[in-house]
Amino acid sequence: MLRQTLLFLSERNDLKKVLFKLPYARGMAGRFVAGDTSEEALAVAKRLNDRGFRVTLDLLGESVLERAEAERAAAEYAESLAEINAHEATTTISLKLTQLGLDIDTDFCYENLLGIVRQADELGNFVRIDMEDSEHTQTTLEVFYRVFERYRNVGIVIQSYLYRSEDDIAGLVEMGAPVRLCKGAYNEPASVAFQDKREVDANYVRLMKMLLDGGAPTAIASHDERMIDATLEHVSKNGISGDAFEIQMLYGVRRDYQRQLVDNGLNMRIYLPYGSQWYSYFMRRMAERPANLLFVVRAAFGD
Ligand SMILES: Cc1cc2nc3c(=O)[nH]c(=O)nc-3n(C[C@H](O)[C@H](O)[C@H](O)COP(=O)(O)OP(=O)(O)OC[C@H]3O[C@@H](n4cnc5c(N)ncnc54)[C@H](O)[C@@H]3O)c2cc1C
Repeated sequence: MLRQTLLFLSERNDLKKVLFKLPYARGMAGRFVAGDTSEEALAVAKRLNDRGFRVTLDLLGESVLERAEAERAAAEYAESLAEINAHEATTTISLKLTQLGLDIDTDFCYENLLGIVRQADELGNFVRIDMEDSEHTQTTLEVFYRVFERYRNVGIVIQSYLYRSEDDIAGLVEMGAPVRLCKGAYNEPASVAFQDKREVDANYVRLMKMLLDGGAPTAIASHDERMIDATLEHVSKNGISGDAFEIQMLYGVRRDYQRQLVDNGLNMRIYLPYGSQWYSYFMRRMAERPANLLFVVRAAFGD
């Protein structure tokens, strides 16, 4: 119930305007967001690198409806790629296609993405396309397929709560496409997504096996030790190399567990968001674990 409410609030622009004016609001988001600028984000990324973590940088932003704003986001990603290169940071980038104009025009979005992927290719870097709500699944995949035909340094995300994901993964494995597997962060109806957590989890394990058995470059994105343990058990039983996959977790979530896995020799990448558009991202993290609300309220009041 609280999860649904928080997810509903994550889409409320009017509430966002009020929250942006609260003095402590930005500070509350600080646990999950690296900073407002790419410079701040890179400094955090470098610190994480020094501690053995790979990073993927995400410039926060989505649902862009103005061409100029989408072009600005594309330019910021280009700048970010150049800075990553200059600082020799071990970090890729993650982006959302609605941030690059998917809701404006598919070709326009494709061109924006292509430019970023081309530049990343020249710099030896990699671009991950985050997956958004189910209204965008098909178009996101179509844009990805078009770019993947030309460049191999681009990957996609699949969500285990969607019924369609098994078919999508079968096709992606066939193509040898890099896939990040997650459970899914949006409020989806029963017509397209499993509603029972046990079914989402069971599908996660099924899809994880399809990816690893099919030899796809795989990212296991989860903080759930049952998903991680199932992965480790599967790779150990089937003699799959530790370099065939990496674990990915969000910045600020289960930090002790992140450390433990790196200490055990696993490849771990931290998803590190930055930028002023932190509201929806922050609210989705609250929805995943409402206990975090207590944490941020305490932090805001200096406890
Ligand atoms: C690297 C990465 C990239 C992602 N990319 C996408 C994407 O492109 N599209 C998309 O829809 N979703 C994405 N997600 C979000 C994902 O879909 C889930 O919503 C989120 O990861 C929670 O699911 P879980 O697998 O961690 O398991 P859950 O069953 O939700 O959680 C398992 C346990 O992890 C801990 N935990 C989980 N979340 C939190 C939290 N916020 N704070 C504190 N503890 C927590 C709790 O102890 C919980 O019991 C991404 C997640 C990660 C880690």
